[in-house]
Amino acid sequence: MNGTANDPKIIDGKAFAAGLRARIAEIVAGLKQQHDLTPGLAVVLVGEDPASQVYVRSKGKQTQETGMNSFEHKLPAETAQADLLALIDKLNNDPAVHGILVQLPLPKQIDEQSVIDAIDPAKDVDGFHVINAGRLATGGAAMVPCTPLGCLMLLQDRLGDLSGMAAVIVGRSNIVGKPMAQLLLGANCTVTIAHSRTRDLADVCRRADILVAAVGRPEMIKGDWVKPGAAVIDVGINRIDAGGDKPKLVGDVDFAGAHENAAAITPVPGGVGPMTIAVLLRNTVVAACRQAGIAEPDL
Ligand code: NDP
Repeated sequence: MNGTANDPKIIDGKAFAAGLRARIAEIVAGLKQQHDLTPGLAVVLVGEDPASQVYVRSKGKQTQETGMNSFEHKLPAETAQADLLALIDKLNNDPAVHGILVQLPLPKQIDEQSVIDAIDPAKDVDGFHVINAGRLATGGAAMVPCTPLGCLMLLQDRLGDLSGMAAVIVGRSNIVGKPMAQLLLGANCTVTIAHSRTRDLADVCRRADILVAAVGRPEMIKGDWVKPGAAVIDVGINRIDAGGDKPKLVGDVDFAGAHENAAAITPVPGGVGPMTIAVLLRNTVVAACRQAGIAEPDL
């Protein structure tokens, strides 16, 4: 196993995300100059979940660093669903806001689906609205969920044209597994979606030229499940007790074992994770251009 910064097998999501943010900043500067348009992202946080607070802070900071407007709305944990829906309605109608993100999970008195349904699909930069899921499935101009789009960007950057490749995605959630499958299908892969009821999962994985793990189970995908020469994308973020003072962050893939067989692999941390916010910013720029009737930048 190597896994260092100089290791040619490593897909460096941190570096790719930094490059994407730099391109976004250039495009934002051009939009301001040529169209008097400053894309704006509103992030809504309900409650005080520590992990969510960290995510929201990073989103706000990176939004501002790329020259966009960041609007943060922090509501108390006991907020009623009707009050959150009223805020979303206000943001839907605010011309300075081009993207709306409601940080999940929400407190239990609020129905997440009702909240997602209330966001204007044109401003749904998370791509979770059913209209955007439908557009993605039917090849329309969707807002695409950030994490899977980030994975696709990393794969295309490393492998170029993905046509004809066998892709296996382990996990079928609406936010990662399913949109990932749609994106890889759109890129002309032959796609298999595996899940908790899949038989002979190891054999299914061994057929993959591209193996995407989005399971939420630490190091579940073993090294000998990886076909020699495959590209492995590890979406998993799991905190495990490794005996130190802080929990250790690991993916869904046994990195050391998979690294032996893979031709390319994302590490955890530093692989898929940094892509999610960078793609959120990209989606906000795309949403702003669509809303203003300006040609979409190639991002
Ligand atoms: P979900 O819990 O919503 O989905 C997990 C999926 O894995 C389900 O489809 C489930 O199958 C499947 N699964 C569970 N156990 C097994 C098993 N033993 N064998 C095969 N499949 C199994 O998770 P998410 O999709 O939301 O997230 C997946 C991982 O990605 C998590 O670690 C999460 O933290 C991480 N993540 C990372 C992001 C990032 O920014 N990098 C963003 C989003 C998520 P079934 O449907 O049959 O139950």
